[in-house]
Amino acid sequence: MSTRVTFIGAGNMASAIIGGMIDSGYSPSAITATSPSDAFLAPVNERYGIHTNTDNVAAVTQADVVVLAVKPQMMKEVCEGLASVIQRRRPLIISVAAGLDAATLEGWLGGELAMVRCMPNTPALVGAGASGLFANASVSDEQRQLATELMEAVGLVEWVEEEALLDAVTAVSGSGPAYFFLMFEAMEEAGVKLGLPAETARRLAMQTAFGAAKMAMASDKTPAELKQNVMSPGGTTERAVEHLESADLRRILAEAMDACAARAREMA
Ligand code: NAP
Repeated sequence: MSTRVTFIGAGNMASAIIGGMIDSGYSPSAITATSPSDAFLAPVNERYGIHTNTDNVAAVTQADVVVLAVKPQMMKEVCEGLASVIQRRRPLIISVAAGLDAATLEGWLGGELAMVRCMPNTPALVGAGASGLFANASVSDEQRQLATELMEAVGLVEWVEEEALLDAVTAVSGSGPAYFFLMFEAMEEAGVKLGLPAETARRLAMQTAFGAAKMAMASDKTPAELKQNVMSPGGTTERAVEHLESADLRRILAEAMDACAARAREMA
């Protein structure tokens, strides 16, 4: 029988993971999702054919894995309501909530548990996420493998061995999509200044990012080598890259990511 997975919360992130699990062959009958509202659950049930429940405690009674996927501000109340059933059942807990550390969640859930914290990002919603995962000392190798399989259903998974490194993951991939969206905006604006229609500039910029990522992921060369390969001496790309380097793009990015990680620490 498949591992039974219950999602507490059936919003954007839970739906993305559920959709990915089903696409990768997971049985819908082994998945349950909860939300306070039946009206909200009906389309989730219809779309994925999974079990749904408005009662969190009932939904956890048979679960092997519980994915906590409510907003961080709801988490204390939700966990305290689940503490006694979770302590009896002792499932693997996976939290996708930003900024709540494992010890805090364990406290709200009534004590020591096998807990994985996951920092996903929004491209998980289109199956192209990048998630950083951390396991506390109570998580077995088998449970680690299970968490990897669940999160790989919506993209890449990377484990970190210190919980504090999830703040660095937030700075790279959690908040990272916005850095690229900003680049798309800026490249579109600059393309328009050079005479291109906005839509043309936008599509070219996005496809170029997609192509560069695909090429870099398929290659055994480093990004520095790939960059060098498209920069013929005295050519157009070299001129543009020299400008970015002399404007200190690397320092600007490092400072932005430091600020992001610092904010993640403040919020914890
Ligand atoms: P969301 O779309 O608002 O989903 C939250 C879900 O929780 C809704 O289905 C909501 O139902 C339900 N809920 C509220 N109170 C509940 C309760 N007492 N019991 C059970 N379910 C309850 O939020 P989201 O974007 O998926 O975010 C969920 C978590 O993922 C957050 O902790 C966030 O930090 C994390 N995360 C999200 C992203 C992202 O890209 N979206 C990225 C990284 C991390 P109602 O709508 O009926 O209230």
